[in-house]
Amino acid sequence: MDLNNLNLEPLVLDNDAKRLLLHSCCAPCSGDIMERLVQSGIDYTIFFYNPNIHPLKEYEIRKDENKRFADKHQIEFIDADYDRDEWFRRAKGMEWEPERGVRCTMCFDMRFERTALYAHEHDFSVFTSSLAISRWKNMEQINDCGVRAAAKYPDLSYWTFNWRKGGGSARMIEVSKREQFYQQEYCGCVYSLRDSNKWRLQNDRPTIELGVKYYGRDS
Ligand code: SF4
Repeated sequence: MDLNNLNLEPLVLDNDAKRLLLHSCCAPCSGDIMERLVQSGIDYTIFFYNPNIHPLKEYEIRKDENKRFADKHQIEFIDADYDRDEWFRRAKGMEWEPERGVRCTMCFDMRFERTALYAHEHDFSVFTSSLAISRWKNMEQINDCGVRAAAKYPDLSYWTFNWRKGGGSARMIEVSKREQFYQQEYCGCVYSLRDSNKWRLQNDRPTIELGVKYYGRDS
């Protein structure tokens, strides 16, 4: 696909920043964002740090899918630690919290603290995340976490750009179908998997099977 034919207003980073660190949660959420950044001529690096994703099989599928798309566009992809034990340590006592609650604030904080540290150590002055493009998520909650993580470093800021606007939500699905990305069916942690399956059973739906659903193939 010729990205110059997207006919979208080119994006510009705040404060004349030249490079962007993009925290990515998965290929479907970052696909359109990545294409828009390429089309805008913005130099960026993907930072994949998502120790919330369980089990390991699901984590590997989501990571590999994201890396495949980054390789296709020759975008640097940083494969950060799968710091699972620390994620569970921080989640202790929050096991029964609902989605968009305090466990999710902890989860975003943890991922963004690590992203901000990497940005600081590698001379990025701005970072952002693909997380808020999903309509399932609370954008304000995510932005607050991003801004809080960036505030630990004097020369770093979090870009609160609204990726949903200007057709972003629709393009996210279009790109996912065109690329036939793996379609995850729960947010990521073992608690979201439990709660999604509970809802399915209550609504006479089969429980989630990992690794089988892809956009544009059978859905
Ligand atoms: S529901 Fe999603 S955002 Fe919330 S804690 Fe679980 S993985 Fe993290």
